[in-house]
Amino acid sequence: MSERFPDIDWWCDRCGAYLNDQDGFDDNNYTHKCTECGHKNSISRDNIYDSHEDYWNTNSDD
Ligand SMILES: [Zn+2]
Repeated sequence: MSERFPDIDWWCDRCGAYLNDQDGFDDNNYTHKCTECGHKNSISRDNIYDSHEDYWNTNSDD
């Protein structure tokens, strides 16, 4: 099995759960439904940030 994004940690966009460990997580899929909150997270290069801070800065308009 090869991963599309080795060494990348995925976190739920809504609740912040760690996705890599969740049932059914496979980064060959384009989306992963969070088992904690049901949010469909998109698993793509566009959603990779260097850090959580980066993510929040990018998504904050204020
Ligand atoms: Zn979630």
